[in-house]
Amino acid sequence: MNWKKPRKISILFLICEGENQSMTITKNDALLVVDVQQSFCPGTNGSLAVEDGDGCVKSINAVMPLFDWVIASRDAHPDNHCSFVENGGQWPKHCVKGTDGWDFHPRLDLTSVCAQTFKGTSEHQDAYSAFRGTLPLTHILWALGVQRVFVVGIATDVCVAATAADAMEDGFEAIVIGDATCGVTKESTAASLKTMSKQGIKVINVADLF
Ligand SMILES: [Zn+2]
Repeated sequence: MNWKKPRKISILFLICEGENQSMTITKNDALLVVDVQQSFCPGTNGSLAVEDGDGCVKSINAVMPLFDWVIASRDAHPDNHCSFVENGGQWPKHCVKGTDGWDFHPRLDLTSVCAQTFKGTSEHQDAYSAFRGTLPLTHILWALGVQRVFVVGIATDVCVAATAADAMEDGFEAIVIGDATCGVTKESTAASLKTMSKQGIKVINVADLF
């Protein structure tokens, strides 16, 4: 009988158990819900739909009630925006203010949302990060005493990544809830989460909050 094997296994089990302890959300935490808009979702015939855009809505709805501060960002472009292909940009026309594409995903539960910020609102200016919208987000979060910024939404590898990077740059602890985000493709989502992790952004899953 070899006694070493079972001993090693039980130590490993204890380590894993410790890592799985759920994270407690406090008043010093804010949730940023990035661009959960119809233009980005296949289920709403989005013109710039990411692979599984509708897939993250359920997870986002599940985590929103945990937070005192939930702020939603939206792309809100004028009809002649510089990011559109027809105007020399790289994206098909999307999220034109006032259209269905600009609206939130119909299944997104907005009950917990306390403020909205709008991005890329003028013709010659584009913005990926929720920190570059119409609200002075960093100052608002400082005033609220927020220390940790959690990020969910669309697209993982574009606006979510830019938002998390800005949160970190402005001195917040940046945490991305990976399975409450959707990226352009499954591969680019996974690669982006890996890169964020290397940059010092914490990547967790919805289950870590319960
Ligand atoms: Zn845009």
